[in-house]
Amino acid sequence: MKTIEEFRQSLRGDLIDAQDESYEDARKVYNAMINKRPRMIAMCTDVADVINCVNYARENDMLVSIRSGGHNAGGLGICDDGLVIDLSRIKFTLVDPDGRVVIAGGGCTWGDIDHATHAFGMATPSGIISTTGVGGLTTGGGLGHLTRKCGLSIDNLLAVDMVLADGRFVSASAHENEDLFWAVRGGGGNFGVITAFKFKLHPIDMVYAGPMLYELSETEEVMKWYQDFIKNAPDDINGFFAFLMVPPGAPFPEHLHLKRMCGVVWTYTGPMERAEEFFKQIREFKKPALDLVGPMPQPVLQSMFDALFVPGMQWYWRAHFVKELSDAAIQEHIKFAETVPTIFSTMHLYPINGAASRISDTATPWAHRDATWAMVIVGVDPDPANKDHITTWAKTYSEALKPYTDSSGYVNFMMDEGEERIKATYGRNYNRLAEIKQKYDPQNLFRVNQNIKPVQKMELH
Ligand SMILES: Cc1cc2nc3c(=O)[nH]c(=O)nc-3n(C[C@H](O)[C@H](O)[C@H](O)COP(=O)(O)OP(=O)(O)OC[C@H]3O[C@@H](n4cnc5c(N)ncnc54)[C@H](O)[C@@H]3O)c2cc1C
Repeated sequence: MKTIEEFRQSLRGDLIDAQDESYEDARKVYNAMINKRPRMIAMCTDVADVINCVNYARENDMLVSIRSGGHNAGGLGICDDGLVIDLSRIKFTLVDPDGRVVIAGGGCTWGDIDHATHAFGMATPSGIISTTGVGGLTTGGGLGHLTRKCGLSIDNLLAVDMVLADGRFVSASAHENEDLFWAVRGGGGNFGVITAFKFKLHPIDMVYAGPMLYELSETEEVMKWYQDFIKNAPDDINGFFAFLMVPPGAPFPEHLHLKRMCGVVWTYTGPMERAEEFFKQIREFKKPALDLVGPMPQPVLQSMFDALFVPGMQWYWRAHFVKELSDAAIQEHIKFAETVPTIFSTMHLYPINGAASRISDTATPWAHRDATWAMVIVGVDPDPANKDHITTWAKTYSEALKPYTDSSGYVNFMMDEGEERIKATYGRNYNRLAEIKQKYDPQNLFRVNQNIKPVQKMELH
């Protein structure tokens, strides 16, 4: 067994502990509500560092967390008194434009991938903020502006390289370690540390996109119209519905500053010369109070909200899958939209009813493809003094909506909601995940995540 000093020397990257000046910064994650104190943080630079970390943690019976972008709502990239395997220095991208694939290091953010692929006029589906980690977003599913057109991020994942709990380095794809490949496409960080992701690329270069905002008093009409529209829309259009309080700054006009409003953030990926024509139906439904929709390069859309959502704020999240916006549900939404507590707090409805819904519920662990939306309610504010206020709003809103939602939510929008909800989220895929967990991580070394407990096949019921 290695001593700490030998472990430190086995790494190319830094090993940070509480004695280091950089410790306080290194232990921060995106959500400032999370305040954990790991024993050590390994800033891995390559696969060898990751292997050494996994072996050291296992041999010393240490708790382990895997951190890529650090964006996880519940702070699952970090842990108390354990080893953080930080991948943020494993950043590389390799684009094959002819083969239409990109390979990205396990520590890349989506901005890194967008930057690399846009040079070739291509993109792969990601989230809506460019600073989110590829690692966490992909292993949980991956919803964003391109979901209706191209599916979830996992639907575009072709292969991974990863370090398993026993320290072995393996690849997984449709042709190799197929069970593992199935499990990592939605099963989170339960199965090992992914050091490289290979994604399919799509010829998406320019998009016609941006937000359209409406008066809050028009919510009922807008939500009803939006529901009808998105349920029948072609895959070329994505639009997520949002409640918000308008930020007091450009590009928003002064008369809307700090106003509570509703809106849709559109993304059209059809032929650009037909975009204006396509949007006529949307603009004719009702004149928006603000229309910022227009042509832009795909990475501009991907980073449009980055400046608003900077690291270090307080975040409280709740998640649900939604099939239908009934009249009663819309009335509940309106009540909470009227009390959106801060300019960062919001409710989003992300459509999953296009290309993502045509993949079978059992093709990947992501089991709720029959839902129309993944809903997230988030209370956000920079001021820790507002922590209780934003948390109460999000919790109360979420409880009020429960009668109108499914029994589960998207794992990447959950905080600590317990084992039953994780099981409900994976549905009939949970047992298969638990068996694969038993095969690849029988001691549950990787348990700082939405945890799937290893189970022998015969123990399942
Ligand atoms: C501002 C913001 C915007 C967001 N927008 C979206 C969105 O549009 N769409 C969407 O789907 N989600 C979105 N999310 C949610 C996001 O997908 C999750 O928070 C996700 O966990 C973040 O990934 P990360 O790598 O940054 O997180 P981290 O905190 O670094 O990691 C979270 C967990 O992911 C697993 N993990 C991370 N990297 C790896 C790896 N390389 N190998 C194995 N396991 C790994 C680990 O279990 C880890 O505990 C958003 C989150 C934030 C804060």
